[in-house]
Amino acid sequence: MPDTSALTAVHSFAAGRWIPPGSGARVIHSAVTGEPLYSAGSDAPDAAAMLGWATDKGGPALRAMTFHDRARMVKALALWLKEHRQVLCNLSFDTGATQKDHLIDVDGGIGTMLVFASKGRREMPAGQVYIDGAAEQISRTGTFMGQHIAMPLQGVAVQINAFNFPVWGMLEKLAPALIAGVPSIVKPATATSYVTEACVRLILQSGLLPEGTVQLITGGTGNLLDHLGGQDVVSFTGSAETALKLRSNPRLLAGATRFTAEQDSLNASVLGTDAGPGTQEFDLFVKEVHREMTVKAGQKCTAIRRVMVPERHVDAVISALSGRLAETTVGDPRLDTTDMGALVSQEKKNDVLEKCTQLSKEAERVFGDPDSFSVMGENTRNGAFLPPMLFHCAAPDDAVHLHNTEAFGPVATVMGYRDTDHAARLLNRGKGSLVASVFTGDPEVAREITLASASFHGRLYFNNRTSMTEATGHGAPLPHMIHGGPGRAGGGEELGGVRGVLHYMQRTAIQGSPDIISGITGQWMPGTTQDRSKPHPFTRSFGDLVPGDTLTAGPRRITTDDIETFAHFTGDTFYAHMDEEAAAANPFFPGRVAHGYLLLSFAAGMFVQPDPGPVLANTGLDNLRFMTPVIPGDVITVTLTVKAKTPRTEDYGEVRWHVKLTNGEDATVAEYDLLTMNAV
Ligand code: NDP
Repeated sequence: MPDTSALTAVHSFAAGRWIPPGSGARVIHSAVTGEPLYSAGSDAPDAAAMLGWATDKGGPALRAMTFHDRARMVKALALWLKEHRQVLCNLSFDTGATQKDHLIDVDGGIGTMLVFASKGRREMPAGQVYIDGAAEQISRTGTFMGQHIAMPLQGVAVQINAFNFPVWGMLEKLAPALIAGVPSIVKPATATSYVTEACVRLILQSGLLPEGTVQLITGGTGNLLDHLGGQDVVSFTGSAETALKLRSNPRLLAGATRFTAEQDSLNASVLGTDAGPGTQEFDLFVKEVHREMTVKAGQKCTAIRRVMVPERHVDAVISALSGRLAETTVGDPRLDTTDMGALVSQEKKNDVLEKCTQLSKEAERVFGDPDSFSVMGENTRNGAFLPPMLFHCAAPDDAVHLHNTEAFGPVATVMGYRDTDHAARLLNRGKGSLVASVFTGDPEVAREITLASASFHGRLYFNNRTSMTEATGHGAPLPHMIHGGPGRAGGGEELGGVRGVLHYMQRTAIQGSPDIISGITGQWMPGTTQDRSKPHPFTRSFGDLVPGDTLTAGPRRITTDDIETFAHFTGDTFYAHMDEEAAAANPFFPGRVAHGYLLLSFAAGMFVQPDPGPVLANTGLDNLRFMTPVIPGDVITVTLTVKAKTPRTEDYGEVRWHVKLTNGEDATVAEYDLLTMNAV
């Protein structure tokens, strides 16, 4: 047992208490200098106490809030972390990460929280029940219906993270779990746990989260997983080997505990057949492969490991890439001149070297020599540095390691392909990846790759001269888009906007009468009781409106004169409105019919209350359908019902109105949702 008294202690935070490292603590060395800096790893956590604290305190407090409350909380937390980001950046240098790398980990994590916060407010209800899709009419007369909803799980989200993103790795899972309403227990990889610990301290110091919402385990998880059940989620990022071990836990299997894994991935990038030397796509491709090899010293789950190039361009690609790699300065990440920092530890460096030995059996190293390269900076002799290393495999069809071995460092292998079909087959040899990119200006190439290979990847990224200035990069998982992949990549899915929140929720089908369904969801739906007893809804403020409040206006008779006037005023003299004979020949119409837009305009004319009042603006129509044609002489009536309300600011909120137009025979002429902004 080494003497760790001089080292900074990395604590756990369990059931409301900070717990120092215990008997089995590990020493963490600087990736840059090799100096011992921290001791981390508390004794086995008291799983029952941690889970109890989360489920008795954190869960109920979060679930008492609405989606919007939680989204606002996540936004405030992100802004707090942004204010204090430098603390995290300063600590992160010793993980080997450069200033540019911090932009991905620290700023990327905060940015992800902000996107989730925004989506939570824009795409989720202001209540506690998430409505998933449209209501299903499952009875003939509409007295019995179905609706899918989603509710927060009542357990804990246990996140077990990899060493490479100590901040982003936590925040990208924390944000959706918080918005869902589920407390988290975070277990970072020990090697970089001191950065995560600092982030958790900041989170707790903010005072923004209810007690019991976030706990931290540094070191082993003890028997925590043996205490989990069907209301809990395990989200894992790391090696396939650990994922397999953890997901095979009998207790997790017996309790059908959700287990999401994001693990090894042999991501690839393809240079399209149309993108030879001299094209912008060729230059983009070379730049992207170089970036993916060197950012975070290649320790990125999405980094490009396999570089696929039309056979005739292999030499040109190797030469262009080697040129760029030769200009890459490896060194102390604190130096402004450094392009690529260190690997996280000597152990991981050795692991990469061992994987390179395996690759060497099938590929020739064409750039980078781990035994001879320069490292900038003082006191870096014992740092975990490697040069970027490029391999070339001449026979990728016969190779095995190439498609199965993830060297988690600045390592990539170039291979030639004969045609697009061959490229897709090589892509699929990775047995499932997080992302594959294709550099092409030819939609046919993109479509061919998509048809042959999309099912093998969580994300397909296409880039060319049109998108290059705004494209976000092969390696950047975006909070809006899903992150994860099939097969070797773990079979899991994270992020993807509201999809990511739903991973922490249970989808439930509810069935019953419209009033019952509406009572649960807080939304009016067709068939639910309508209240016509109150004053005109346009005279009442946002806060006074209740779903179900209804106004019926009309009837109004539609005349030929109305149709003629509208046609000439707007210029819409389409034959169906103007030519009796031609209209009658159309299978949809009995003869001349009123314009749909004329009916909408008359509907507004019937239901508005014209005086200045709480209705501020008409912001749009959704789901508009014209169902029955209206001929001259028909009468129309309009029914306006408050369907749902969404607060937007302290001053106003969005009202979604259901609008239905009927004719004299009570047939539905048109139906739509009208959106207005109303003062509170
Ligand atoms: P590991 O699988 O070793 O560790 C991942 C996480 O699991 C760490 O937090 C680790 O904690 C934890 N862990 C390990 N064993 C257990 C256990 N028995 N119970 C509970 N938690 C456990 O992966 P690494 O992060 O060390 O990376 C190893 C390899 O994984 C890389 O070289 C790379 O190939 C791959 N990887 C892939 C990623 C991807 O997304 N594609 C991302 C990162 C890594 P502790 O650190 O304390 O052991």
